Amino acid sequence: MNDSRKREGEPADGERPAASESKDFIRQMVDEDLRTGKYGGRVHTRFPPEPSGYLHIGHAKAFCIDFGIAEDYGGLYNLRFDDTNPCKESQEFVQAIERDIRWMGFDWEDRCYFASDYFEKLHAYAIQLIGMGKAYVCDLSQDEIREYRGTLTRPGRNSPYRDRSVDENLAIFERMRAGEFPDGSRTLRAKIDMASSNINMRDPVIYRVLHAEHHRTGNRWCIYPMYDFTHCLSDSIEGITHSLCSLEFEDNRPLYDWFLDQLGVHSPQQIEFARLNLSHTVLSKRILRRMVEEGYVSGWDDPRMPTLIGMRRRGYPHEAIRSFCDRIGVAKADSIVDFALLEFCVREHLNKSAPRVMAVLRPLRVVIENYPEDRVEDLDAINNPEDASTGTRKVPFSRVLYIERDDFMEDPPKKFYRLTPGREVRLRYAYFVKCVDVVKDEKTGEVVELRCTYDPATRGGDSPDGRKVKATLHWVSAEHSLPAEVRLYDTLFTKRNPLAVDDGKELTDYLNPDSVNVIETCRVEPGLGKVDPGARLQFERLGYFCLDSVDSGPGHLVFNRTVMLRDTWAKIKRTAKGT
Ligand code: ATP
Ligand code: MG
Repeated sequence: MNDSRKREGEPADGERPAASESKDFIRQMVDEDLRTGKYGGRVHTRFPPEPSGYLHIGHAKAFCIDFGIAEDYGGLYNLRFDDTNPCKESQEFVQAIERDIRWMGFDWEDRCYFASDYFEKLHAYAIQLIGMGKAYVCDLSQDEIREYRGTLTRPGRNSPYRDRSVDENLAIFERMRAGEFPDGSRTLRAKIDMASSNINMRDPVIYRVLHAEHHRTGNRWCIYPMYDFTHCLSDSIEGITHSLCSLEFEDNRPLYDWFLDQLGVHSPQQIEFARLNLSHTVLSKRILRRMVEEGYVSGWDDPRMPTLIGMRRRGYPHEAIRSFCDRIGVAKADSIVDFALLEFCVREHLNKSAPRVMAVLRPLRVVIENYPEDRVEDLDAINNPEDASTGTRKVPFSRVLYIERDDFMEDPPKKFYRLTPGREVRLRYAYFVKCVDVVKDEKTGEVVELRCTYDPATRGGDSPDGRKVKATLHWVSAEHSLPAEVRLYDTLFTKRNPLAVDDGKELTDYLNPDSVNVIETCRVEPGLGKVDPGARLQFERLGYFCLDSVDSGPGHLVFNRTVMLRDTWAKIKRTAKGT
């Protein structure tokens, strides 16, 4: 098989972290809160996806932490859709997110919430802040607000509208809600500190005017609350104790606390952890959406996508993704985890669970000259050597077979141990066969058929006289096998970190032109006509494959290669080191 991969950058050395023995820093903080009785001994977490795309494996890391911690402490967890951005969100995404999280094995019972369910309450909190003199309506445009905000090195300036009276603010905010103003013309802002060293605290916007239909509240609202305001209050309303999120929210924590302090409501502890970055792909919903919309992939469920739905279609077991999330652990520093670690986890799970079968990707016809024309034998084949309880199956053997084209060479180099003219090899679970002649296409000279003989005394693949062969090949019976299409995948990007775009380049310049290789000539053993879509199998000697649940149909089998049998990257590394 030609599996040479175009790659830039090698996996970092020693990148195989084991599941940590000691507790991570979040669990240590939870322990401490339990010891001091901070939340009355409760642990209640949430995962707050925005329904603006499908979940990717970075989200899986987040909810494995959120939900895993609640489970570990016998606490509760909520699923909460953070749906404050009506233009990008939809019901399709809501359903997909629920499906993906369930598939990963989590159950939020009856605790699925929507930030939009709190719009009325949030609005009341906003009015309360205005009443306290802690929020004001601002007429600056978005650009002006940005200009007034200052920079990291330059303090901001107060908005000319900052000192409006409470009554005036209340009256205009009421008119904003009533729909009197066009989009972007006014905002409600928290009155904090325009000179704060933390830009988030420089009078952040908490409501904006937006005449857009919401997938749940329809046209009821034309003002929508901003993320920072919505998120902390939603956590508070739900009685969340530990609000876990990724590192980029660290600077938002003072604001999170400020809103809750001012309003005097239940205040969860926000704790940040590092985002997951995975090599040779991107974990950004915005970019993945672009891949889909601009047709670089076939959809959110394209098996090359780092989305959970894509990984499921490709054949990744959810247990392997959970195991991957355990292994990478919870850290406070950003890093790029190598894709090879994920593949390692997938392979580890499939090795134990995937039935073995025989399939030939690029068939070469073999005729066994001394095998009777009309005979068919059903030979016993082991389903999974890693799991004796799965037993054996029958595989038909007959006079005309297919073997892998790569497994024959007329003029072999020294270390080629497979089939060549005059040499004997073992056909797995069948017989020893010897190549006695080669048939070629008269015009092209291409080998089109091998003539072989078999030794009837070697039935099952053992020789009674102790004769040794150096290779065991997989095969299928020509007449009995079924045609199939196979899709071999490689990484979506050739660059280890495609987001680090070099001068004069574009992200899409790093797309891997060989990320999928379709082989339509495949022949598989007949039993595969009966497996269910989504079934995961090991094609002996070729890798793990999964029956595609989208493009397969009656009489049309399509298999996705989930992962290769061995870690070819490790091999590349070893070769590079000359060992
Ligand atoms: P993107 O930035 O890709 O558009 P997002 O973070 O805005 O995604 P959300 O739906 O808001 O997408 O994410 C829900 C939660 O998942 C957030 O709390 C965020 O912290 C977490 N999350 C998103 N991406 C990652 C990641 N790569 N690693 C860990 N957690 C993540
Ligand atoms: Mg977000």
